[in-house]
Amino acid sequence: MDAGEDNRTGDVVDRATGGATGREADEEPTIRIDGRTDGHGGRAARRDEAVRAAVEQGLLGPDTPIVGLLDVAGIRESAAALRAAFDAVTAPGTPVLHAFAVKATPLVPVLRLLREEGIGAEVASPGELALARAAGVPPSRTVLDSPAKTPAELREALALGIAVNADNPQELDRIDGLMRSATSRSPLGIRVNPQVGGGSIGATSTATATSKFGVALRDEGAREWVVRAYAERPWLTRLHAHTGSQGIPLSLLAQGVAETYALAEEINRRIGRPQIDTLDIGGGLPVNFGSDTETPTYAQYARLLGEAVPGLFSGRYGLVTEFGRSLLAKHGTVVARVEYAKSAGGRPVAVTHAGVQVATRTVYAPGSWPLRIAAYDGKGRPRTGAPVVQDVAGPACFAGDLLAEGRALPLLEQGDYAAALDTGAYYFAHHYAYNSLARPGIYGFTQDGAGEGVSFATVRGTQSLDEIVAESGGAHADALTTRRAPGRG
Ligand SMILES: *Cc1c(COP(=O)(O)O)cnc(C)c1O
Repeated sequence: MDAGEDNRTGDVVDRATGGATGREADEEPTIRIDGRTDGHGGRAARRDEAVRAAVEQGLLGPDTPIVGLLDVAGIRESAAALRAAFDAVTAPGTPVLHAFAVKATPLVPVLRLLREEGIGAEVASPGELALARAAGVPPSRTVLDSPAKTPAELREALALGIAVNADNPQELDRIDGLMRSATSRSPLGIRVNPQVGGGSIGATSTATATSKFGVALRDEGAREWVVRAYAERPWLTRLHAHTGSQGIPLSLLAQGVAETYALAEEINRRIGRPQIDTLDIGGGLPVNFGSDTETPTYAQYARLLGEAVPGLFSGRYGLVTEFGRSLLAKHGTVVARVEYAKSAGGRPVAVTHAGVQVATRTVYAPGSWPLRIAAYDGKGRPRTGAPVVQDVAGPACFAGDLLAEGRALPLLEQGDYAAALDTGAYYFAHHYAYNSLARPGIYGFTQDGAGEGVSFATVRGTQSLDEIVAESGGAHADALTTRRAPGRG
């Protein structure tokens, strides 16, 4: 089974506090990270300790009813696993840049932590580039990929020496103009869409026939255009593809890389020199949202790539990767207080402070993005008790604002906490301003010594009401009333 299918079924393990039972890839025993099964301070045990400590230390409570928690040790482990996976398969001396897709978790301290772990940044907007720079990620370890780069963005990237992948012929025209007027250290490439097809989630499938990204390789004349583009521009030395994200089966990801590799080989052969020296294979490793088991692993993917694309790791090409979700998702937890526990039509409903503002995709597309929910009591201890089918609702004023619908969990009571697991990527860092709900504070946690205590570092403070007013036009309160309507004298 392709691990990428995990999200298709909506078959989420509800007993987040009851051990990992998720489906596992067949090829190798996957790493058990659930603390309750390994008993060695694994991920779930660390999470439980952090939730309890957050309540004990007053980070979470009646006046601060929602926080995001990040497991610093877990992030370091994933970064190390990524590096090790590619080190194990690449020829010695192969340059490999792992560039974290900033969009997955756009938080400066996270980017700084990853930088310290040897991970660069893939950015796709002026804001993301600013975050990477604020984190101190050097231009030589930054890649710019947005599909809508303005001339000013391109000029800045080329001046800084940031790698740029041109999305389309019009963008390449703009780069031509800039390259004529100045020299640049930027490694430059073209993004292609191998059009190998989509996965189970349309919104994250980037290699469909009509995807908006890159040069659609199978369209008439496109391949010839790409070959000519390289032949005419000796400074085009990279080739880029990102086949998709969550919901894409590993085999399809590998096929996208295989097509990209074959194109690079063809280009180099036809122009008679190894002009393309680096392949950017994108990100997209899916995440198992069904349990604490990490599957698929980077090691599995790297091995699969080695089998599917012989030559990729031979050392003839340097490599860039752009993983996002798989680096951060399992290290984040949203914890929200149950403000009220009620019942409607016979169904218990826990009204919490986590909803559409922190779990936008899950609320609007619950079939594609189910999340595990863990129940904690008012002291932050895992709730035990017989599972009861209930809804876990958010605070927003529309009926569909549900984190989980009809989920069997120990019955949540007023003053308890509900935790949405695996939310370190594309969740609490992706605030949606519905109902002017505040962005929750985010704290990184580490265990001291022999698991004796948990300490927290502020990654981002809770958004204040003043900040909400300011970003909602507070400085322009009179902007509309001081103008008279035309014709009213
Ligand atoms: C979103 C994106 C990524 C990261 O995808 P993940 O599924 O988070 O690994 C990488 N590259 C590009 C170009 C992207 O758009």
